[in-house]
Amino acid sequence: MKQITLYFFLFALALSANAQPVFTKADTLRGSLNENRDWFDIQQYAIDVTPNIENKTIQGFVLWDVKAIKNSKRIQIDLQQPLVIDRIIMVSNGLKKMDTLAFTRDGNIAIANPKTNMKNGENFQLLISYHGMPREAIRPPWDGGWIWKKDANGNPWISVACQGLGASVWYPCKDVQSDEPDHGATIKITLPKKDNIIAIANGKKQWDEQLILNNGTQHFTWKVTNPINNYNIIPYIGDYIGWSETYKGLKGNLDIHYWALRQDSVKARNQYTQVPMMLKAFEYWFGPYPFYEDGFQMIQSPHLGMEHQSAIAYGNKFANGYLGRDLSGSGWGLKWDFIIVHESGHEWFANNITSKDIADMWVHEGFTNYSETLFTEFYYGKEAGNEYSVGSRRTIKNDKPIIGHYGVNEEGSGDMYAKAGSMIHNIRHAINNDSLFRSILIGLNKDFYHQTVTTQQIENYISTKSGINFSKVFDQYLRTIQIPIFSYSYDKNEKILTYQWKNCVKGFDMPLHFKYLDKGFDFLPADYTPQKRLIKVENFDPVAFGEAIKHQYYVELNVEK
Ligand SMILES: [Zn+2]
Repeated sequence: MKQITLYFFLFALALSANAQPVFTKADTLRGSLNENRDWFDIQQYAIDVTPNIENKTIQGFVLWDVKAIKNSKRIQIDLQQPLVIDRIIMVSNGLKKMDTLAFTRDGNIAIANPKTNMKNGENFQLLISYHGMPREAIRPPWDGGWIWKKDANGNPWISVACQGLGASVWYPCKDVQSDEPDHGATIKITLPKKDNIIAIANGKKQWDEQLILNNGTQHFTWKVTNPINNYNIIPYIGDYIGWSETYKGLKGNLDIHYWALRQDSVKARNQYTQVPMMLKAFEYWFGPYPFYEDGFQMIQSPHLGMEHQSAIAYGNKFANGYLGRDLSGSGWGLKWDFIIVHESGHEWFANNITSKDIADMWVHEGFTNYSETLFTEFYYGKEAGNEYSVGSRRTIKNDKPIIGHYGVNEEGSGDMYAKAGSMIHNIRHAINNDSLFRSILIGLNKDFYHQTVTTQQIENYISTKSGINFSKVFDQYLRTIQIPIFSYSYDKNEKILTYQWKNCVKGFDMPLHFKYLDKGFDFLPADYTPQKRLIKVENFDPVAFGEAIKHQYYVELNVEK
């Protein structure tokens, strides 16, 4: 009897595992705003870290500036194993009270018990000292951690990549995208004094001369004043050469700093000329660069690249394309440097507008994927942009929905890049008014300036501002793997085209506007009924007709017999 019960139990478990992915308690602790996390709002991080290059260890402390937004409970601190928390000190009551807090570790988090109760609106600080050997990156930037490399001359070349994995892989933080430090962060890196090895981080350097200490070490302090994603706060250490220029942009003078390894600085000077080109194109499409106060840096990195805010990681070998390839296959992707364009595009979508939950990461990657099309269009014309977008569809897998599960630190499908980008291309052509489309992109960056958002906010914004209800289009492309089929037949004698949408969510009604044989066609949602629709078409050629639709819309076509 017992065995049968066990058998059924396992069977039920297997069934439920099939129906729903299994998430662990750790996933939920990391991905959700539980009661030990939702009562406080991070204002600022001050990170002070000393890497030991020989041992691949770090030690340091982080000061959290925090505001209570509800009455206090316990405090969850994220710090991934095997890093060790040495001490947690809470400073409250206007710096008058200082308590060492008891805490318990539970996997990758610690729970600390405040001795003083905080009330809604009160500020306090948490000083967390820690040490250990942080996870080493296996295949950065995708499989992140600390990167302990050497350059061709044998100098240390060190950085971190931790998107997805989370910043708690190297410093104690509230590791969830919905709580950015409102006033930014300072990053202080201490290194042995060596003339050529320097440390760079986000934002601006704090002193002209690096602070040299008696004990033979040297501090490098950087400060970013704007809200920033935890995973974007990153040090770069190496034999770097730097140079600067001032970009005259939409918000005035923008300080740009370029950094490359000494050995690569000549190649870098040439390739980085695409940075002002990128700024010009993206300020046109998206509005002002969102972090003028912190400047903009392009920094050679020991991995392919990442959107580290105001300190973009660049590792694309100073060649156009994506490691020399064109992801779109259209040829246009070889005209520019994929990493300079894509990672900088994230300054608007990911860094300025951040998704609260990584399940909604299409907001970062979909718009940034589409920024590649817009960059191509800006310099090579609208046709080139269309060809790039159409070509990008070849990377779409339709393996699972773009939006992942909420509250468990889970990203959705890799289709958040090209498929979400194609959906934006669809929406743009459905709006059929490029100046309105552009004003929506600029409006998103203005109205959600420095904010964290949900997909719903972005979806509603686009529907409201365009005057077209795109909710079913979002449902279709973000929440299912079905590609809408435009199914049609043609009556040669009557010259009548009969068509309908198939394979789509109920109520799917994407407007189609396209040119066929130099004649504009408009299939408007107002025309739509649950039945098939009719339209008069002279000189019908099904191949050319289909091509015309596919040029602007990511849909399947079906000719009914
Ligand atoms: Zn990206």
